[in-house]
Amino acid sequence: MRDESRTLAGVIHHPRLVLARGAGSWVWDEDGNRYLDFTAGLAVAALGHGRTDLADILRTQYATLEACSNLYGNLPALELAERLVEHSFAARVWFANSGTEANEAALKFARIVAGSSGDAGKTQVVAFRGGFHGRTFGALAMTHEPHYRVPFAPLVPGVRFASFNDLESARRAVNPRTCAVFVEPVQGEGGVVPADPEFLRGLRRLCDENDALLVFDEVQCGLGRLGTLFAYEDYGVIPDMLTLAKPLGGGLPLGATLLSDRVAAALKPGQHGSTFSGGPCACAVGVRVFDVIAEPEFLEAVRLQAVRLRAGLDRLAATSPLTARARGRGLMQAILLKPAHRARGVDVVKEARNRGLLVTRAGRDAVRLLPPLTCTPDEVDFALGVLGDTLAALQPARHVARSVVATNVVTTPVAAPVS
Ligand code: PLP
Repeated sequence: MRDESRTLAGVIHHPRLVLARGAGSWVWDEDGNRYLDFTAGLAVAALGHGRTDLADILRTQYATLEACSNLYGNLPALELAERLVEHSFAARVWFANSGTEANEAALKFARIVAGSSGDAGKTQVVAFRGGFHGRTFGALAMTHEPHYRVPFAPLVPGVRFASFNDLESARRAVNPRTCAVFVEPVQGEGGVVPADPEFLRGLRRLCDENDALLVFDEVQCGLGRLGTLFAYEDYGVIPDMLTLAKPLGGGLPLGATLLSDRVAAALKPGQHGSTFSGGPCACAVGVRVFDVIAEPEFLEAVRLQAVRLRAGLDRLAATSPLTARARGRGLMQAILLKPAHRARGVDVVKEARNRGLLVTRAGRDAVRLLPPLTCTPDEVDFALGVLGDTLAALQPARHVARSVVATNVVTTPVAAPVS
C-alpha cells in the first residue's frame, strides 16, 4: 500500500493495493504476497496474466510498426477486423481505445443512421436502470447510477431510462423518436444481473417496430465470458451494433464497435476518427486473444468452470447467514448479500483479500467474481474456499458454530508471502 495520494488524481480511492506482477490467475504485491485474481483486471486479463505469447507478439509488432494513425491502414487491424466480421453478425468494425469510446461511437453512429433516414427528430436513446456504459459524456448519459452522473450535468440530452428485465417499462420508453436502445446482456457494474432471454427478444421486437437500433454493450460480458464467443449468441438475439473492449487487447487499450450492414452503409468518411483507433500493436495482440478465445475447446472449458463456480457459490449462498443467493451467467458471477448485510460488501472484499483472493463489489449488494477465462478447477475451488472462510469469519457470532459445520468448505491459509 504505497501512498499514491500525493501523485495520482483524487478521483481514485486511496490507499489501494499496488500490484507488482502477475502470472496466470495470480498476482503479487510488492511484498511478495500472492493473490488469486478473480477480478482479472476487471475482465481484461481474460487469458490470465504474464502471457509470454502476447508479450512476444507485442515486442515483434512494436519493433516492426508501432503506430500509423488513421491516415494509413495496417495489417494487424485488418486481420482483427476480418476475424470479428467473419465470426459475428457484423459487416464492418470500428476500433476504439476503450469501452466508453466504443459506446460513444455507437451512439454517434445511431444518430447518423437516424439522420440519414431524413427524420431530424429521431434522436432519443433508451438505456436501463443499473446499466453502465462508460465515463465519457455520451456513455455517461446512458449510465444510470446517479453518483457517476450528477457532478457532470448537463449530460448529452435525450436519454430515457427503463427498468431492466421489464419489457412493459421498455415499451413505455421506446417510441418512433428513439434512434437506439443500449443494453448490457448481463449488467456488470449494476450487480451482475443477467437479462432474461425473453427481455432481449422483446427489445429486438420493440426496436424493429420503432425503427430503432438495438445496441448490445458486451464490453464486460462479451468475448468468451459467457462461454460463447459473444454474449448475443448465448441469448440468440442479434443486435444492430455491439461494443467490445476489456479483454480484446489482452491488456492493451482496445475496443471495437461491430456494425450491421445497415449501420455500415450509413457511415461516410470523416464522420468519426481517433488517432489510436486500430493501432497495430493493440490489434496484433488482439488477433491472438481472439484466436485463443474463439477455439471451441476454450469456450467449452469456460462453460465447465462456470458450472463449477456457480455450483460452489450456490452452496455458499445457501449456508452463510450473510448471503441471499448467487447470481450471474458464465464466468461472470456474484454472491448477493442479504439486505441487512449489504454494507458488509466492503468487509467481504477486504477479508477475502487478506486471505489471498481478489474480488470486487458490484451494484448495491453483489460481491462479483470475474475470473480469468483460463482459471483451473483448483483455482475455482481455492476461491470458493476463501470466500467460505471469509463469510464464516464475518458472520454474526451466534451463527458461527452451526454454519462452519454446514458449509464444509476448504479452509485456506491467510495470504502468506509466496514468491
Ligand atoms: N460498458 C460496460 C458494460 C462496462 O462494464 C464498462 C467498464 O466497466 C464500460 C462500458 C466502460 O469501459 P472502459 O472503462 O474501458 O471505458
